[in-house]
Amino acid sequence: MTSAPPLLRIAGLSVDIATRAGSLPVLCDIDLAVDKGKTLGVVGESGSGKSMTALAIMRLLPGPAARIRGGQILLEGGDLLRLDERQMRRLRGGSVSIVFQDPMTSLNPLFTIGEQIGETLRWHENVSRKAAAARAVEMLRSVGIPEPERRVHAYPHQLSGGMRQRVTIAIALACGPKLLIADEPTTALDVSVQVQIFALLQEIQARTGTAILLISHDFGVVGRMAHRVAVMYGGRKVEDAPTERILRHPRHPYTEALLRCVPSLQGAVPDSLPEIPGSVPSLAELGTGCPFAPRCPSAMPRCAAEMPPTIEAEPGHSLACWLAVDGQGTAAGAPA
Ligand code: SF4
Repeated sequence: MTSAPPLLRIAGLSVDIATRAGSLPVLCDIDLAVDKGKTLGVVGESGSGKSMTALAIMRLLPGPAARIRGGQILLEGGDLLRLDERQMRRLRGGSVSIVFQDPMTSLNPLFTIGEQIGETLRWHENVSRKAAAARAVEMLRSVGIPEPERRVHAYPHQLSGGMRQRVTIAIALACGPKLLIADEPTTALDVSVQVQIFALLQEIQARTGTAILLISHDFGVVGRMAHRVAVMYGGRKVEDAPTERILRHPRHPYTEALLRCVPSLQGAVPDSLPEIPGSVPSLAELGTGCPFAPRCPSAMPRCAAEMPPTIEAEPGHSLACWLAVDGQGTAAGAPA
């Protein structure tokens, strides 16, 4: 029996950014897959390349400095990198939508939320103003906005932060996307509201079958929400496995360190959680070896000099670490 192809497959994606010091790699050889109706969690500290990956999928990288150097972004087999800007405009908010961290940056303060939902519908679908207004009310209802007939006339500043994020989710879902990218969607919200937003995303996925690419710095969130987890560090994917597998048997030292910092995974919550010593390297600091080497308690001399290849440690569980390569000797494409 062959498994269904993923909805989204990113293969060998590399992105450079122009700086005064020259062109530096922000993403290196990223491979990711999001299955239909499932959630892929992408986790890592700030600066690991998570949001750059999301922007690359949407073709919204900050230009002209950022440039895609290579790779493919395949949505149902079609390469988004081959689409022209007009085709991408139809795709954004249509087949693929994105929800950002701060709803105030996504919403236009000058228009009512009903007008903004209606605008999305009218851009992507040939619907009348009246039909779009009615659909806007239904969308607000579907994301749990109380009194949607009244709220549809509200301006963004008249809503709470949680309500505003529900509105951005309603806009993102208005045209029934196959893929919803949620980039730290609750970071700006209170903890109780965060729980509600994640419950909403799960309910939407169960109801509509929308696949979700969830980007977060919080392994606890990703561990609860995602079917599969990819861990990023220094612009690279360092580990990728089904969620249960990575939570129980992390193999990469960075994944292990991240998991030690999650209170909900520590049983009784300790007085203080460990932190990973050091900080994520800047682009200029990235050398030729493993980007985690300066912070890794298991680093060997080889680590700083040579980039470990990505190997499949178990079926469906890949990682890039010399410990795994040396332990197994099965690296695909590993240097001899
Ligand atoms: Fe640590 Fe070396 Fe593995 Fe990098 S390759 S995570 S430095 S052991």
